[in-house]
Amino acid sequence: MARIAFIGLGNMGGGMAANLAKAGHDVRAFDLSAEALARAGEAGCLAVDSAAAAVDGAEAIVTMLPAGTHVERVYTEAVLPHASPSAVLIDCSTIDVATARRLAEIAAGRGFLAVDAPVSGGIAAANGGTLTFMVGGTEQAFAAAQPILEAMGKAVIHAGASGAGQAAKMCNNMILGATMIATCEAFALADRLGVDAQTFYDIASVSSGQSWSMTTYCPVAGVGPVSPADRDFQGGFAAALMLKDLRLAMAAAGEAGATVPMGTRATELYEAFVERDGQATTDFSGIIRTLA
Ligand code: NAD
Repeated sequence: MARIAFIGLGNMGGGMAANLAKAGHDVRAFDLSAEALARAGEAGCLAVDSAAAAVDGAEAIVTMLPAGTHVERVYTEAVLPHASPSAVLIDCSTIDVATARRLAEIAAGRGFLAVDAPVSGGIAAANGGTLTFMVGGTEQAFAAAQPILEAMGKAVIHAGASGAGQAAKMCNNMILGATMIATCEAFALADRLGVDAQTFYDIASVSSGQSWSMTTYCPVAGVGPVSPADRDFQGGFAAALMLKDLRLAMAAAGEAGATVPMGTRATELYEAFVERDGQATTDFSGIIRTLA
């Protein structure tokens, strides 16, 4: 069992760190939020008072932070100066490809093995240890990160060189943004046409309209498995983070010269939800309220 530093114990990181502790690892956890830190302590991690203290002596360093700027800051201030050079650096946050590649290059220059390993699955999968990890990095770095990631997920897939995990993640989330909006629209239209939400779910969930947004994360309260809709759209995957991911995908599409009309429209709708309607912290499935 390894000594692991875990930095970023929010909606996703909290459950992930708990699963590493449950698997028998010695987890040194840190978050700027005292509440998140206390929860990690209750879940079997050792709560420490700085990122540097978490990193000190760790064999693996996992970060699960909001965006590229946070990861860059934690890497610059704590990870790179304080980590043992034999540690493997695993960033599970969803960030832009350019920052992921730059940090990997800096880390490699200092002798670290490093991967970008963003996740898919949401909070239920983070808590249940059933995330999918898409990993970018060298074969050697992937091999070092794999056993740690396996304690938190059901699938650990090597996507390619540094940044490839982030590239796969933004393409995946472009699908998610578009299918969530399409699912919300369909429930709203079914309602107007007089079809009960549960009945529509029973039909669409076994028909060609089925998707993860429908059957794992249904945006209607009381329908399908328990989801943020049942908690008034609190917790879950903040709309601001979905907008961040869509903007990353749009920027990457622009650079690659790819045509992404559905992704573009999803970005516009989440922009309006987050910025015009002030719903940044609402779960992204809460966009159904603007369509219903
Ligand atoms: P969150 O905002 O709930 O958690 C982020 C945590 O990082 C917070 O607890 C915050 O206090 C902490 N933090 C920020 N800066 C810090 C610093 N300098 N040092 C230590 N801690 C710091 O976000 P989340 O929903 O857990 O998402 C984390 C990442 O995972 C994001 O990149 C997101 O896009 C991605 N993601 C989220 C979901 C989801 O369903 N929530 C699913 C897949 C991927």
